[in-house]
Amino acid sequence: MNKSTLGDKMLVAGPCSAESLDQLLSTAKAIVTNYPHAIFRAGVWKPRTRPGTFEGIGEEALEWLLEVRKQTGMKVITEAANVKQLELCLKAGMDAIWIGARTTVNPFLVQELADALKGTSLTVMVKNPIHPDISLWSGAIERMQAAVNSEIIAVHRGFHSFETSEFRNHPRWQVHFEMKSYLPDLKMICDISHIAGARPLLQIVAQEALDLGYDGLMIETHIHPEEALSDSQQQITPTRLHELIQQLETRLPSPVDAMSIAQLKNWRDEIDRLNNELLILLKERLQYSTLIGELKKENHVSIFQPERWKTILEEMNKRGEELNINDGFIRNLFIQIHDESVRIQAEIINREEKNFLNL
Ligand code: PEP
Ligand code: MN
Repeated sequence: MNKSTLGDKMLVAGPCSAESLDQLLSTAKAIVTNYPHAIFRAGVWKPRTRPGTFEGIGEEALEWLLEVRKQTGMKVITEAANVKQLELCLKAGMDAIWIGARTTVNPFLVQELADALKGTSLTVMVKNPIHPDISLWSGAIERMQAAVNSEIIAVHRGFHSFETSEFRNHPRWQVHFEMKSYLPDLKMICDISHIAGARPLLQIVAQEALDLGYDGLMIETHIHPEEALSDSQQQITPTRLHELIQQLETRLPSPVDAMSIAQLKNWRDEIDRLNNELLILLKERLQYSTLIGELKKENHVSIFQPERWKTILEEMNKRGEELNINDGFIRNLFIQIHDESVRIQAEIINREEKNFLNL
């Protein structure tokens, strides 16, 4: 095994899409030198948001993946998004397939794929669905576990979010623990590329995944990332892949020297105290939302006033900037608080309407 801090963790590396035999072979050969046990990934059929963009080479590229395996000894994986694609993968003799985020959302499709996989021993990786519905994800994994005799691996690739985020797909780090509570023996890896969406963010996402004890990483790797036909912003060269892995640090769950332990304890006590104060302030603020809701009802005023909301957001952003607090955080925080105010006021108005209707 390589000497990097990845140790014996799983590495899935390779381009977003298979583009040519040359591209696959040169990428794979450069990866395998440092990571002989890495699994080589490449999308053969690409789920693209809009038509008219590169949708993958299709069946022909499966042959190229087999050639990669022949020349490097690496195991090969691609995405299968429907039964037809899966059957072609089975016929070709792929080692593994992954179920993409847009497929995991659909239990009918997942079941069809599970039925077609029955009795086979392919490794199956199941990406999280686009939206943060954990039971949909664990359900897809259970369907696969019931079908195949091999390992099923969950892949956290981040979630679509309406909140402002520097990430392409927002990581929800707590899902690691939620999934393990449903399926304690489940192996989980982290697809840092689809979370980050941009090269500069890859290192911190990889470090976070490692700190949380993920069983491995999926990293989109392309011999010429700038020329990639899909996801060019987030792909890295095999050389950069090796640097990234070497720069990962093995971190301790807590400090070891007594001074630092004591300091940490003090600061955590302060945080606990402030968290309590925050709750009391929130409670006080929401009480005003209730009073305003009643007043609006009596005066037949609508709950949501866009101008008022715009002013609050602008002022809080300005104040946040003065206090040097991240503007995305301020925005998300006040969206949450405002949503709760609107919910409380809607409840007041609905309750009164029910009385009015004698329900
Ligand atoms: C991919 O891995 O290239 C891909 C399309 O992934 P996801 O399903 O996570 O978007
Ligand atoms: Mn991709």
